[in-house]
Amino acid sequence: MKKIALLGSTGSIGTQTLDIVRHHPERFTITALTAGSNTELVVAQAKEFKPSIVSMATKDLADRVSPHLPAGTRVVYGDEGLIEAASETDADTVVTAIMGSRGLPATLAAIEEGKAIGLANKETLVTAGHIVMARAQEKNVPIIPIDSEHSAIYQCLNGEPMRGVRGITLTASGGSFRDRTRGELEGVTVAEALSHPNWSMGAKITIDSATMVNKGLEVIEAHWLFDLAYDQINVLIHPESIIHSYVEFVDHSIVAQLGMPDMRVPIQYALTYPERHTTPTERLDLAAIGKLHFREMDFERYPCLRMAFDCGRLGRSAPAVYNAANEIAVDRFLRGEIAFLDIERVLETVLERHEVSEVNDLESIAEADNWARRLAASV
Ligand code: NAD
Ligand code: MG
Repeated sequence: MKKIALLGSTGSIGTQTLDIVRHHPERFTITALTAGSNTELVVAQAKEFKPSIVSMATKDLADRVSPHLPAGTRVVYGDEGLIEAASETDADTVVTAIMGSRGLPATLAAIEEGKAIGLANKETLVTAGHIVMARAQEKNVPIIPIDSEHSAIYQCLNGEPMRGVRGITLTASGGSFRDRTRGELEGVTVAEALSHPNWSMGAKITIDSATMVNKGLEVIEAHWLFDLAYDQINVLIHPESIIHSYVEFVDHSIVAQLGMPDMRVPIQYALTYPERHTTPTERLDLAAIGKLHFREMDFERYPCLRMAFDCGRLGRSAPAVYNAANEIAVDRFLRGEIAFLDIERVLETVLERHEVSEVNDLESIAEADNWARRLAASV
């Protein structure tokens, strides 16, 4: 029986993780659930899965859910609550399905306790990849990717020595505006940006897919997860999202991972690795799909991806600043405060004004993160 603490249980990855748990009641149990504000859903989840801890974003929300929780479920809240949920139950695996760099301290706390990480929260590795990966290695804790591209690479690499790897290619669907020119991006609405052609995901990552920031975060995530140089990481537009990513070896052999776009496959793989079990998902029928398409990435069309490569290569505080500025810019766009193309303008301005510095601990990362948030909020 695998015991799972699930950070971000009411979101897109969170609810799909619970789907997998539901599908294999003999294999998985839930020890902790955490949620932002969806009290109704988290109460229903707690009744169904009977965790020992539920953590809510604020005390007010915690007070609201508390009377409805099953006996034996304790409620906590805030950033401390999140850390408690991640590290203080008898979970052996923590699934990080929370959005944004807020997930970082809880992920590190789980690693300290020797818990395996099922990593969806890519912002964690973007802001502090050097710290998280080093600590995981020291504690001998596996970090298994849930992001579909990284799960694909993980599956392709299974058992391969890294010296045989020439490079990897992350595929990108192109997001909601992939068939528009830059000129046609002026004045697009929040609703248009939120309708992704292939995947149903949380709001923030859907906007990140349209700006290609998501792929930028994934490039940095891949750099840390697989210890690859940025020159070894490529991005290719693949509108169908059937090939989830691939590895090219030095002998020019390519190994790719394919499947229907359904996050429950990589979520379950992270939970059962190295084993495989049935999933409640659709099988891929290549004959029915007929054709797959590929387009070279256009860095002029998607400047946010170029900025991500630049920040990745600069390293130190640059990726944390890129991520934090983006979190604020996306939030402002979703609230109707700035236009879609302003997201990249905010990023550009914040990065231009940033003086890259060493960030060797959580405090200095938080400092860079806060600096970027403040500036991004006022640009
Ligand atoms: P989402 O917005 O749907 O869900 C976020 C979850 O975090 C929700 O349960 C929310 O209640 C919870 N949360 C927010 N603030 C919280 C707080 N203060 N305390 C506790 N919980 C809090 O997001 P998502 O799309 O599921 O994405 C989650 C993460 O997974 C992101 O890092 C994203 O980049 C990554 N990811 C998502 C997908 C996808 O298909 N959705 C794919 C790959 C990677
Ligand atoms: Mg992805």
